[in-house]
Amino acid sequence: MAQCTGMTNCKQEKPRRVAIITGITGQVFSAVYLYSLSPLLLSLFVLCLWLQDGSYLAEFLLEKGYEVHGILRRSSSFNTGRIEHLYHNPQTHTEGNMKLHYGDLTDSTCLVKIISEVKPTEIYNLGAQSHVKISFDLAEYTADVDGVGTLRLLDAVKTCGLTDTVRFYQASTSELYGKVQEIPQKETTPFYPRSPYGAAKLYAYWIVVNFREAYNLFAVNGILFNHESPRRGSNFVTRKISRSVAKIHLGQLECFSLGNLDSKRDWGHAKDYVEAMWLMLQQGEPVDFVIATGEVHSVREFVERAFKHIGKTIVWEGKAEKEVGRCQETGAVHVRVDPKYYRPTEVDYLQGDSTKAFEKLGWKPQVTFEELVKEMVDADVQLMRNNPNA
Ligand code: NDP
Ligand code: GDP
Repeated sequence: MAQCTGMTNCKQEKPRRVAIITGITGQVFSAVYLYSLSPLLLSLFVLCLWLQDGSYLAEFLLEKGYEVHGILRRSSSFNTGRIEHLYHNPQTHTEGNMKLHYGDLTDSTCLVKIISEVKPTEIYNLGAQSHVKISFDLAEYTADVDGVGTLRLLDAVKTCGLTDTVRFYQASTSELYGKVQEIPQKETTPFYPRSPYGAAKLYAYWIVVNFREAYNLFAVNGILFNHESPRRGSNFVTRKISRSVAKIHLGQLECFSLGNLDSKRDWGHAKDYVEAMWLMLQQGEPVDFVIATGEVHSVREFVERAFKHIGKTIVWEGKAEKEVGRCQETGAVHVRVDPKYYRPTEVDYLQGDSTKAFEKLGWKPQVTFEELVKEMVDADVQLMRNNPNA
């Protein structure tokens, strides 16, 4: 029998593939309660509640045969509605390969404990207060979780003596580019963050580079441009639009409000982007990459495309704060501009150049803008039809 080391699984003599993902949603009582009922039920519940990137990445890694460990933050609410449909989804059966650990990026003791117990081969740091507008209200908290939280996790790897064996992925962001310095933005474009979120992620970016250079840790920054999906949080603009358009289609809503219609983003699909995260950790050298589609659309275009999908044409009337979007066919006003959604400092234009990722990782986005909008609207129509209060 092969000698048992930290890098091999003694029973199967295969290389260990053990990942920790920060960025899991759930809550203490329900998780423990569900586990007491059935470990399978808990696994299904958790897969459902993982937020956008974490859920797709977990699915991706489980399919590749990884043991996946998630760091779960304590929360007081319990959404039973989300469990029901999982009874009918045997594909999410992952019993045995996935474990949960209560923890928080603001608590370094728990991070050391989890890493020393799990001895991961890969860590994906996706946990963050990720909403740009909210970061203006929760600036210090955002700095603590997104900036110092990354340092805590890196320090925990070092404290556990795992800098030679762990590969570390940091969820960096196109928000680092902020105020336009160059179009399109690539790995060498200077950073100019425009929010507490962007500034916190800038610290995280550089502390990752520092650990790579100071301690030889295999640590990379994935500078990901906006990526969306039906699992996107409902207060991000794409999901807000897809939910509202779905409700209008079903007669559950007449009109909704948005902020800056003219800001432009390079929107991709989260499912495509988690593959890029994984690819970055499989390379010979730790290198940072921009991940983007290279295609840019305005918020206004997203609105128009979403309505087009349900058979309505939106025409715009008025200027600036008075602007409205009216349905050409019925004359109904469906969209209004409300300045309360404006940001103190805006990021006007993000367009990524992923040439390096195309060439070195062999990565390419698969889902087009049109397909993304259609998938999100269709998913929300389905969701709202089954549960108008969702
Ligand atoms: P979400 O906001 O959907 O998920 C963030 C996750 O982090 C949630 O599971 C949340 O848990 C968790 N979290 C928040 N605070 C803490 C904390 N103190 N300790 C531990 N976990 C915490 O983000 P996405 O899935 O969209 O994005 C994943 C990562 O990628 C984030 O870091 C984001 O900043 C970054 N990113 C995202 C982009 C995008 O377009 N989606 C673009 C570029 C970067 P809880 O539910 O308990 O709050
Ligand atoms: P971000 O790129 O990470 O900030 O992702 P968001 O989806 O939150 O915002 C994308 C763009 O949409 C930003 O330029 C916002 O100012 C703009 N936007 C316009 N109206 C809204 C709105 O109602 N909510 C949000 N979240 N963003 C809006």
